[in-house]
Amino acid sequence: MSMSKGMLEEYCPELSILSIPLRNKFRGINFREVAIFRGPSGWTEFGPFLEYDDQEAATWMRAALEAANEPWPELFHNQIPVNATLPIIEPEAVRTILNRFPGARTVKIKVDDFENGAGVVEEVLNIDPELKIRLDVNAGWSDTVAISNLLEYHLRFGNVFEYVEQPCATLEELARVKSEVPIRIAADESIRKNLSADFDNFSQYAHFAIIKWQPVGGFKSAHKLAEQIGLPIVVSSALETGIGMSHGLALAGSFKSTPLASGLGTVALFDGDVCEPATVVENGFIEVKRREPVLLERYLASPERTLHWKQRILRVLQTLQDLEELEGRVK
Ligand SMILES: [Mg+2]
Repeated sequence: MSMSKGMLEEYCPELSILSIPLRNKFRGINFREVAIFRGPSGWTEFGPFLEYDDQEAATWMRAALEAANEPWPELFHNQIPVNATLPIIEPEAVRTILNRFPGARTVKIKVDDFENGAGVVEEVLNIDPELKIRLDVNAGWSDTVAISNLLEYHLRFGNVFEYVEQPCATLEELARVKSEVPIRIAADESIRKNLSADFDNFSQYAHFAIIKWQPVGGFKSAHKLAEQIGLPIVVSSALETGIGMSHGLALAGSFKSTPLASGLGTVALFDGDVCEPATVVENGFIEVKRREPVLLERYLASPERTLHWKQRILRVLQTLQDLEELEGRVK
């Protein structure tokens, strides 16, 4: 088996590597690099974060190939409510970023430092006390710290919190926090970083399951997971461009139940989108439709980064080929 340029052309036709500036640092990055390509069903996106190894990236490629080569699942909703997403910022920056999510009634706030997080929550509630708040800790706290921080948030702000996303890393810690804190828990990393886990009785760890189109490996895999987990689903993004986001929106629209506000408005955190009109929030919703890139030149990555990504994609395709998963993936 040899890795070849031909493989790129076969599996990832019309490949472009993009680098899109973020308006605020997010996940510690200032530029979002992704690959997009096109299959018989339309455009797709492959954007595992740079630190992810080939094994983890292969799951993202399963999603990308499925979307390029197969039709969308049946849709039950043609527009999806989204939450506003606030990166880790100073409270003074809240208003400007909230304005990029017009009409959103739910605000998800990334939190690491307790006091700064509290300042951001306070500012959001100053702007509109009716907004629902989600906190996302990205597994940053131990169970002891999470319990004391969350009890304190609850004491200060009352019942404004819809849930706290992944306060701690392990399931045991989540279970402990869940039993001691009056704020509901959503699991994110515990799902997407443990796809082969046994999800029976998952309700002992969380009240909500965050499901992301690429990190869980695409539509079919997402539906299988949702069924295994059996909790209400919140579909969220992996900081995709409008191309990938259209698949996240389709995933949210493919669940029969009324969608909870999804974390799919994050194109608003980019300097711009490759699709026009950009995939941004109107009246708190985004429309579910396939999107095509029209502004590629503006965000093409440098030749060095393009080469890096092509090599990465070849290794990831090779990983799937070694697992005998490439056969039949391409129509
Ligand atoms: Mg999260």
